[in-house]
Amino acid sequence: MKNFSHQDLSRLGSWPLIAGPFAAGLFPQSALVVSSTPGLEPGLSLCHALLCEERETSSTCRCRSCQTDFMGHPDIHLLSPSPHTIKVTDVRMAVQSLLYRPLWSPVRIIWIQAAETLTPESANLLLKAVEEPAAYVHFVLTTNNPDQVLPTIRSRCQRFVIAEPDRQPIDSLPQDWMMVRPLLPDHVVQAARFARVQFRQSHQRQWLGVWEDLWQAYDALAANANQDIVRERLRQLWIRR
Ligand SMILES: [Zn+2]
Repeated sequence: MKNFSHQDLSRLGSWPLIAGPFAAGLFPQSALVVSSTPGLEPGLSLCHALLCEERETSSTCRCRSCQTDFMGHPDIHLLSPSPHTIKVTDVRMAVQSLLYRPLWSPVRIIWIQAAETLTPESANLLLKAVEEPAAYVHFVLTTNNPDQVLPTIRSRCQRFVIAEPDRQPIDSLPQDWMMVRPLLPDHVVQAARFARVQFRQSHQRQWLGVWEDLWQAYDALAANANQDIVRERLRQLWIRR
């Protein structure tokens, strides 16, 4: 298990329950992250922190992994229901990817979103991988419905229960939100929440990409980056989605 410095945890700062064992080098290879919201936020922060190549000093890390959308990263495999369950063929592909050492990052991750939607067949296949993972392998399972996760899987994961953040999800966003002056990190957080809701409702992965990019815009704003540059980047991102 790799040791992580406190600085690695900038992305994990909102989730002290995860950040603590992570910092101590005690983060398990199989984690079930439970949150009453869809679990996307802590899962995303966690996967980012695990994948970072530099163990950099800030959340504005410029390493290849931190700058790459998960969709284009060779060391993370996302599994999510399509449309209602996670299929055994998808799990098989993910498990096969574990045979190869990571290409960029210190670890190779399978991130299973809505883990309660694993079918018994999918879970069985996954179990074999979870039982004896190579040292570089991490399983991140996220759920907002832990009681529905198959007990065989649940029992092999260390559980992290994330408290409900003190805020309500939003389901709409003003058309011209990014034209607000000054553009504050809070505005970007709102947009990120919007993207999260869109992802939860549609399971369309481009929303996950948007969410990640918004994270980076948030970091940039929080670090007092030039507003106009951030605004232009957001504009392009929002058009592309
Ligand atoms: Zn990095």
